[in-house]
Amino acid sequence: MRTANLSGRLVLVTDDESAVDVEQASDGRFGPDPQSVYEHWKAFREWAAVADLPPGRPFATADLGSPAPAPRQVLAAGLNYRAHADESGFAVPDTLPPVFTKYVSSITGPVTEVRLPEGGHTDWEVELVAVIGEWAYQVGEGDAWRYVAGLTVGQDVSERITQLQGPAPQFGLGKSYPGFTPMGPYLVTPDALDDRDDLELGCSINGEEVQKGRTRDLIFSLPALVSRLSAVLPLLPGDVIFTGTPAGVGMGRTPQRWLADGDVLVSHVRGIGELRQTFHA
Ligand code: ZN
Repeated sequence: MRTANLSGRLVLVTDDESAVDVEQASDGRFGPDPQSVYEHWKAFREWAAVADLPPGRPFATADLGSPAPAPRQVLAAGLNYRAHADESGFAVPDTLPPVFTKYVSSITGPVTEVRLPEGGHTDWEVELVAVIGEWAYQVGEGDAWRYVAGLTVGQDVSERITQLQGPAPQFGLGKSYPGFTPMGPYLVTPDALDDRDDLELGCSINGEEVQKGRTRDLIFSLPALVSRLSAVLPLLPGDVIFTGTPAGVGMGRTPQRWLADGDVLVSHVRGIGELRQTFHA
């Protein structure tokens, strides 16, 4: 099953890439808010599995918002692929990756224009993103997929000067400028993917591939992250987990490379879809 946020309304995306409005199709049983549906995710899935849907209508991806536009918590893992930890000059984490937040005001849909912070070094990080579908506290790794509503594509856009300045890194601020957290285009339920534990992800700048990886290479898999994060705090329905980025970011290159005026960044997870960000000075 695929859902999306179309102009602020929850829709089901059908096989022919058209959209069915959930509130209308369910006669109001489920509301239009793409964020609140995660509070009723199990019931929503049960309804969607058997619903007699009207024909969908075509839509433009530019009208899509984030499948989780207003989560209460965004948790993001750093250094979660070995080659990326190496290129960043950090030790590979053993018990827990560094965990930070991207503040919710930076969340956008999948197709956006992003202003580059003046004097900054703005970098790219394609990531697999999970949305939580059920209150999860102290969950075992073997049960963790049950708490995941679905997966989407995320970009953890990062301004490295802000992120790394001062006596201790400022991950939250450096990664939360306006537009720095695009997500989408769809939320795909794990059962709809060929192999939820091994997804190809990557991104390109102006058509040149800069990152390519597979989620089987995560140091802490998504179930491991759900288990270890929920060991500390409850994960709430609609919360977002950024799982980490593979190698190929600008900071790890020689010479280093940063996003520039006019650059078009296209990020994908195969089987889910792609994001497209155009950057402006
Ligand atoms: Zn990241």
